[in-house]
Amino acid sequence: MPVMYARCNWMLSLALDQNGQPCRYMSKADTKDGVLTDMSTHIQSVHNVDPADLLNNIRAVTKTQGVKTLGTRTPGTE
Ligand SMILES: [Zn+2]
Repeated sequence: MPVMYARCNWMLSLALDQNGQPCRYMSKADTKDGVLTDMSTHIQSVHNVDPADLLNNIRAVTKTQGVKTLGTRTPGTE
């Protein structure tokens, strides 16, 4: 079962966590949409950033653990 993941600092490189440290939050889910939802919640609750502006960024940086495929995109998700 592939696990999709993305790191907060891949799209918010200057983001700080609650302790003022560079945010190292990693979102994991079985699907890209799952990562998108989880990361959106994190960005909004921890960083007070509107995730709507970052949805495409999150999609772009979401990777699949253990699979080395480049350029995979799911069409029709816009
Ligand atoms: Zn974060």
